[in-house]
Amino acid sequence: MLTDRHPRVSIAHLPTPLEMLPRLTALLRGPQLWVKRDDQTGLATGGNKTRKLEFLVAEALAQKADTLVTCGAAQSNHARQTAAAAARFGLACTLVLRGHPPAQAQGNLLLDQLLGADVVWAGDTPIAERLEEVAESLKAHGRRPYIVPYGGSNPVGVCGYVAAMEELMAQMAREGISFDHIILASSSGGTQAGLMVAARVLGYRGRILGISVDLLAGPLRQRMAELATATADHLGLPLSFAPEDFAVEDNYLGGGYGVIGDLEREAIRLLARTEGLLLDPVYTGRAFGGLIDLIRRGAFSPQERVLFWHTGGVAGLFARPNLE
Ligand SMILES: *Cc1c(COP(=O)(O)O)cnc(C)c1O
Repeated sequence: MLTDRHPRVSIAHLPTPLEMLPRLTALLRGPQLWVKRDDQTGLATGGNKTRKLEFLVAEALAQKADTLVTCGAAQSNHARQTAAAAARFGLACTLVLRGHPPAQAQGNLLLDQLLGADVVWAGDTPIAERLEEVAESLKAHGRRPYIVPYGGSNPVGVCGYVAAMEELMAQMAREGISFDHIILASSSGGTQAGLMVAARVLGYRGRILGISVDLLAGPLRQRMAELATATADHLGLPLSFAPEDFAVEDNYLGGGYGVIGDLEREAIRLLARTEGLLLDPVYTGRAFGGLIDLIRRGAFSPQERVLFWHTGGVAGLFARPNLE
């Protein structure tokens, strides 16, 4: 394994299943659709951050940290998985969340509280600034905080998705199938960057397309190139990446981050009703909505195989009482 020499704890249920979506494939008349179930990584309702946390928590433990600190949106899946990982290893956890507290804790925020995390609201302060303040104040109280980066996306966390792509390549070889396209929701860029590093090293021939949920393609590709290059360096691989190496679609940003439109609503309902598969409102709902639109526009031939990498987030559904 490319990441073998790097400290890692075992939290995720791996390998995650690879499943076909036969009814949806028939309904859309191809391409052949498959899903990689990283919504089933197993940590307090799962998701992609669990793979990154396997490497990040190992580093925190090596540094003798006693508290994990991270930040995100009020319904951050990353924050919830960080809170669960902290609980699992007997660490404290402080989450700095954007904005002001809602009247009622639902979805991921409810889980953050059940998992015992301390939640600090950033209010009108920029979230990164508030995170620094919180870490400093913990230190002043004799604690040893470990800052988990936004989205778990630094070279340590991104190793989780280098290993994930190796896992997929092994599954493809074992089952005798290959995918022409891999489609996923991208935000902080760590997932796609990790997949690309391993794809390059292992000679994956298909295309990896990130559907952006918040950033324009330009800045997202720039960020992914930097992350992928830094991750390769961290792994001792002599590779460098340019923004043009990353395929990103930014046509589905709709009303902005976390704003549900018809695209997301229809994708969530369609997947639920044709395959019994749940998508989340912020990331995978948008990305699958984009994939359906691309299929309808004829972006794929009916014979091609397309893998949707399900990155999780289902807990966010339960903070959306008016989704239906
Ligand atoms: C964080 C997240 C993503 C985006 O992953 P990045 O590595 O930040 O690009 C996608 N889907 C879900 C459900 C997430 O929580």
